[in-house]
Amino acid sequence: MADIELLNQDTIDKIAAGEVVERPASVVKELVENAIDAKATMITIEIEKGGTSKIRVSDNGIGIPSNQVRKAFLRHSTSKLRDASELSIVKSLGFRGEALSSIAAVSKVELITKTKDDMLGTLYEIEGAIEKKIEEIGAPNGSNFIIRDLFYNTLPRQKFLKSPKAEGNLINEIVEKLALSHPEIAFQLSIDNKNKLSTIGSGKLKDTIYQLFGKNITKNLIEIDESNELFNLKGFICNSSVYKGNRSFENIFINNRFVKSKTISSAIEKGYEGYLMQHQYPFFCLMVDIDTNMVDVNVHPTKMEVRIDHQKDITNLINEIISNSLNKIDDIRDYVNDEVPEFIDDEPNVKSSYNNDVSGVTTPEKPFDSDNKNKHELISESDSTVEYESIMNSSSISEFDSTAKPELISHKGIYEPYEEKGFEIKKQEVKSEINNIKKQSNKEESQLSFLSKDAVVKHSIIGQLFSTYWLVEYDKSLYIIDQHAAHEKVMYEKIVSSIKDNTMSTQQISPPVIVTLNSLEETFLNDNIDIFNQVGYEIENFGGHEYTITGIPYGIYGVDAKTLFMDMIGDCIQASGIKDNTVILERIASMSCKAAVKGNTKLSYREAKELINELLMLDNPFHCPHGRPTIVKMTRYEIDKMFGRIQ
Ligand code: ADP
Ligand code: MG
Repeated sequence: MADIELLNQDTIDKIAAGEVVERPASVVKELVENAIDAKATMITIEIEKGGTSKIRVSDNGIGIPSNQVRKAFLRHSTSKLRDASELSIVKSLGFRGEALSSIAAVSKVELITKTKDDMLGTLYEIEGAIEKKIEEIGAPNGSNFIIRDLFYNTLPRQKFLKSPKAEGNLINEIVEKLALSHPEIAFQLSIDNKNKLSTIGSGKLKDTIYQLFGKNITKNLIEIDESNELFNLKGFICNSSVYKGNRSFENIFINNRFVKSKTISSAIEKGYEGYLMQHQYPFFCLMVDIDTNMVDVNVHPTKMEVRIDHQKDITNLINEIISNSLNKIDDIRDYVNDEVPEFIDDEPNVKSSYNNDVSGVTTPEKPFDSDNKNKHELISESDSTVEYESIMNSSSISEFDSTAKPELISHKGIYEPYEEKGFEIKKQEVKSEINNIKKQSNKEESQLSFLSKDAVVKHSIIGQLFSTYWLVEYDKSLYIIDQHAAHEKVMYEKIVSSIKDNTMSTQQISPPVIVTLNSLEETFLNDNIDIFNQVGYEIENFGGHEYTITGIPYGIYGVDAKTLFMDMIGDCIQASGIKDNTVILERIASMSCKAAVKGNTKLSYREAKELINELLMLDNPFHCPHGRPTIVKMTRYEIDKMFGRIQ
């Protein structure tokens, strides 16, 4: 056996670097978090070739004093923590003092940094952990890191990297989250000289959302600001016009730190039940503030999971907040929202950097909770999610002073962290656009809700289209009502409420239906006969395994009673261990959909009016029980635009 020897520093650094610096996106994350910790108000990120040839992160933060630059690159050197006793209270994003030494071990680093108290800045060059240059240089306040040839000396690591485009996307995703969690910081990201993302750092989350996701999402935002004894919940969700086929629109920040919390995600998604269809995931950007003693953010080394005390109470409350917020609004789908989102920045690359399927269903994602029976698809999480999680993992909690006003810096140094002039113009553009959106939505709010009693008398029913849709003119808009979906909804609600109130009545059928049950089904029926009776069934044993059904729940017409009954029993047995009548209720209610007037049935005007009147009594009249919209709206403005009457 070979002699035991201590590894040399270079090897130690490279091994350690592998843990912190997994891929270009992890370098970006570490450097940006350092800039945030350094109280920067502007952070510029430039990437070339997916970050492998160049990553530049510059900030206008506090800088590193010239006599400490060397130290910053030593392993376990940090200005953010003094001893272990501070570990539980540390609020900066970093504190382990590993990032700079790790990055320097596997790349060629050039740093120019200056504090406001130093007359001159420092230029520091270090390659593969070996110092190449240190000298004084004229520089603006702040830090400018350039990382070249990442992994040039660790070839195996290079092999694991994806294409520059995929690595660029991961970087984009990370910067997006960091920008959302710090609306008070102006971020700018360019990849291969193309502007990918920029935020103005106004301190308003809505502005950041507008800049990252565009007008359509911003237009459909619903503000959330709720506090209770367990947590504060702030931020934005969207109405049902905005959704995606995966969870990439879901942004949760716990105590200012981006996390993937299945628990909280599911609670929010549950709040959208009845508003979105299966495999449609909402847009939200929510900041949860919880007492730090109640959250453990470092549960798992590679996943950004969090463990929260009082989990059940918290999720129930969140679920309630979301569904109440949705119930409060007129959630009528605006047809225009199915279009590609508009961006103020007409740079084609900015547009293409976002996934444009604002309301299209794309790949379904693996459901979080296995007991959510609505989501059967089991598709493995995308690679990028897993990588992303591991990259974001090492943060802790930031203490950025959100009251700090962003200020424009006037750099006359050797580099310009931000193009000041363009930035000012952009800032104004965003402000005026946001104001426009505000004005529009205020105007809409001041109008009567389409389904309010006072509005309904002003409806002008134009007629029926394709024997399916009713066209209604109201307040400079055309409303299109899906008669079938509306009917489904009305019937569903009626059945649900009469089951709840125990007022389900029976509808006699003649001749009775005879069903033959196997022993499992028979046992189930006998064990739960009370529930069946409660929803309106009248069932008797006919001898042997045969049963006669003489009465079925009232209001279920047009459905084959035998098929419904057998399906229901099958479902209930599958969902074994039911203790209440929820499965039966769900089944009957959804069967009512089948029974509802089919799409292509002519209704009279009077019947259509009645249907609208019935809709307006409901909590969520804008969606059928499966979450499909019942009403779609086209404004006169949109129609005029379509005909080129206005630009
Ligand atoms: P950590 O962030 O865990 O302290 P790092 O290796 O990331 O460790 O950074 C080491 C130290 O270098 C930091 O504690 C900080 O003092 C300094 N530093 C790094 N980046 C910056 C920056 N952009 N601005 C000011 N100081 C910085
Ligand atoms: Mg750090």
